[in-house]
Amino acid sequence: MKRRDFLKTAAIAGAAAAAGSTVIGCSSPSIYNVNRLGSARMKLSWNPYEIELRHTFTVSSFSRKTTPDVQVKIEFDGYTGYGEASMPPYLGHTVESVCAFLEKVNLEQFADPFCMEDILAYVDSISEGDAPAKAAIDIALHDLVGKLMGQPWFRLFGYDAAKAPATSFTIGIDTPEVVREKTQEALGLYKVLKVKVGMDSDKEMIETIRSVTDVPLVVDANQGWKDKYQALDMICWLHERGVQMAEQPMPKEMLDDIAWITERSPMPIFADESIQRLADVRRIKGAFSGINIKLMKCTGMSEARKMIDYARAEGMKVMMGCMTETSCAVTAAAHLSPAVDFADLDGNLLISNDLFKGVTVEDGLLRLPSGPGLGLNPL
Ligand code: MG
Repeated sequence: MKRRDFLKTAAIAGAAAAAGSTVIGCSSPSIYNVNRLGSARMKLSWNPYEIELRHTFTVSSFSRKTTPDVQVKIEFDGYTGYGEASMPPYLGHTVESVCAFLEKVNLEQFADPFCMEDILAYVDSISEGDAPAKAAIDIALHDLVGKLMGQPWFRLFGYDAAKAPATSFTIGIDTPEVVREKTQEALGLYKVLKVKVGMDSDKEMIETIRSVTDVPLVVDANQGWKDKYQALDMICWLHERGVQMAEQPMPKEMLDDIAWITERSPMPIFADESIQRLADVRRIKGAFSGINIKLMKCTGMSEARKMIDYARAEGMKVMMGCMTETSCAVTAAAHLSPAVDFADLDGNLLISNDLFKGVTVEDGLLRLPSGPGLGLNPL
């Protein structure tokens, strides 16, 4: 579906769950006068969308050209909040599973969108998994509440937008000619490049990029190294070539081996596949130096913020990552980026059919939109 068709039809597509008879309200008054229209209720709707990638995307375990996605809206009293579920196939979620989850959600039982903790706890209680579908609701709810309050989320969180970090830009695994070309394209636009490693071609990839530029690099092995000695050797070799951190060096369950690497590594080691939600931070905290938080894994902005605070309390570093997503979910993650050490928020830059203008990259740095909510403008 083309983006304009989506924007036209999304308002009528999808079906809000049947209205419940009990209305759950907050006990404290909000800035917004929820009683002024009396019977205003939140209406949830959604629409499947296929994200098209600019280039075929290759990591150590697979390649792909599209990503399934579901765009979500929550409407309330003339305001619309936008959300999104992106489902890279390797995580096991599908358009069907996301839509089946959204069918079960009844937001009409809540008096207004401000009871976010109650609403999100209810949404989380519907099933064990379904993190992308839960994230879509969380993101739309944040957008809606920010619009009702007339403020962008970085401000509601209390963050300084000027502290939003540089985002890394991913150079996929490819032939030396293509890697050289992609690196040349990225130079000038980005201050940090991310390289997917974990294959036999690792050293060739890095040396090809280093033949073009000396910008800081970060690497992501996506569980690709299977032996801790080999992984540590590579990490030391990479560090000598200006690599600043490494993500997920070994398979997610090999925490003892990863802890051994982290203890000896000259650069920080971040968990990605080993961590999904808040409760995982405690489980992996001794094995990694930091965590990669992604909204599609952790159920959204509310839990992401709790993960940032908990990781900080444990003395860990934090990065915000993303899947291939439209600017909707990437902008939602970007509102949390002033609080993190590394940002890998290039998912919207890798796609050819974005639906929104939101966060942008200027001189390599994330620039947060100042409009209320997520600050998105539909394209
Ligand atoms: Mg990763």
